[in-house]
Amino acid sequence: MSSTSQRTLVLLKPDAVARGLIGEIVSRIERKANWRIAAMELRTLDTATLEQHYAEHVGKPFYEPLMGFMSSGPSVAMIVEGESVIEGIRVLAGKTNPLEAGPGTIRGDFATITRENLIHASDSEESAAREIKIFFPAHA
Ligand code: ADP
Ligand code: MG
Repeated sequence: MSSTSQRTLVLLKPDAVARGLIGEIVSRIERKANWRIAAMELRTLDTATLEQHYAEHVGKPFYEPLMGFMSSGPSVAMIVEGESVIEGIRVLAGKTNPLEAGPGTIRGDFATITRENLIHASDSEESAAREIKIFFPAHA
């Protein structure tokens, strides 16, 4: 039997917190077999943190509004750990544009616009390691 235990960085964005969807989203993550929350914190993200986190998007048309949105209120930052969790949470989240995200996904069920799409999840092992270091240096 093969197993692939990984860690990934998840953010419940300010829209998720403001709309009272923390429980709904955390519950979907918690109910998956063989996953566990390894760290979790409610935190308003500052510009320096967000600049590091979204470095790949600097200069894109959506970057400045994204930074404004992401610092507009508290987010929940988490490390989730377990079997194939990096791809698994991306699947649970659904596509970046909620209109393209399937029913049953977090974005597909609860979001309508691309910027305010409720959740971030690392997209690769390299991104996960980089992002965990940004948000939870003590766990890196
Ligand atoms: P993902 O979060 O699915 O990995 P990206 O890394 O491409 O997506 O983009 C980061 C975040 O920037 C998205 O989750 C979304 O909040 C925002 N974003 C991306 N593309 C757009 C866009 N075209 N218009 C507005 N916001 C966008
Ligand atoms: Mg991304």
